Amino acid sequence: MSRQDDKPVAGGRLFVVATPIGNLDDLSPRARATLAQADLIAAEDTRHSAALLRHHGIATRTVALHEHNEREAGADLVRRMQAGANIALISDAGTPLVSDPGYRLVRAARAAGVAVSPIPGACAAIAALSAAGLPSDRFVFEGFLPAKSAARRATLQTLRGETRTLIFYESSHRIVETLHDLVAEFGGEREAVVARELTKQFETVLDGTLAQLSERVGDDANQQRGEFVVLVKGTDGDDAAAVLAEGMRVYQILSAELPPSRAAKLAAEITGAPRKALYATHGREDA
Ligand code: SAM
Repeated sequence: MSRQDDKPVAGGRLFVVATPIGNLDDLSPRARATLAQADLIAAEDTRHSAALLRHHGIATRTVALHEHNEREAGADLVRRMQAGANIALISDAGTPLVSDPGYRLVRAARAAGVAVSPIPGACAAIAALSAAGLPSDRFVFEGFLPAKSAARRATLQTLRGETRTLIFYESSHRIVETLHDLVAEFGGEREAVVARELTKQFETVLDGTLAQLSERVGDDANQQRGEFVVLVKGTDGDDAAAVLAEGMRVYQILSAELPPSRAAKLAAEITGAPRKALYATHGREDA
């Protein structure tokens, strides 16, 4: 029988099921059927998911699986799947494992020989990218930036030379500070998009330069409410000199502690500068 069927089959399988990021009708028919027919739903927050399950008439029993109990609760779930249970994993919103719990469970299930199937659906990062109008052929997902400004600025510094579109998650508590730090680290002229409350009543997708967006959101309390995806255009391909300069800066710091080849490899990974160009400076410095 084909594995493409909607029905979970006997033998114990983990279904990683994406749920809506706001609009409850964004649950696919296959996700609904999988949740309805699973033996058990492992949910990040059972009370939060109850509304979704009720809305779709799903009566399957739920158990909590969150970042604090993932190790022990996950081991128990793996035993149940080995014994034949079909279990669906969901998080509060969107795709499990994407800035959400589930990684340990999926890893443990696969290590125990339990088959794992994705039931794809909403993901805020991809939804935002699809509507942003920024280059979408290559992008990097950075999840949440650090909560404290110094650590956030340090992380952003390592991303200055990135040429791919950058995607961040942010909450209402920090959106103003994060936009401020983005301006400080990437410059106000960089193109960006702030996608807020996607699929919900107050959905807003703002575009502009980082300076414009920082001002617009900073000046309007309504634009600071809800959930956010921030997308920033990568540094321009023809801005190669700036990327190389940043690569050199990082390479010099790292090469004080590491062998030159390792320092060049890491500096290239961090900044996007060509590794060979960084390494080539080694001999010149020594000379
Ligand atoms: N697993 C989810 C996914 O697939 O997108 C993400 C979970 S993460 C804990 C929650 C963050 O995702 C929010 O703080 C926000 O940055 C982003 N997010 C979730 N829903 C959103 C929405 N409707 N509009 C904009 N951003 C959203």
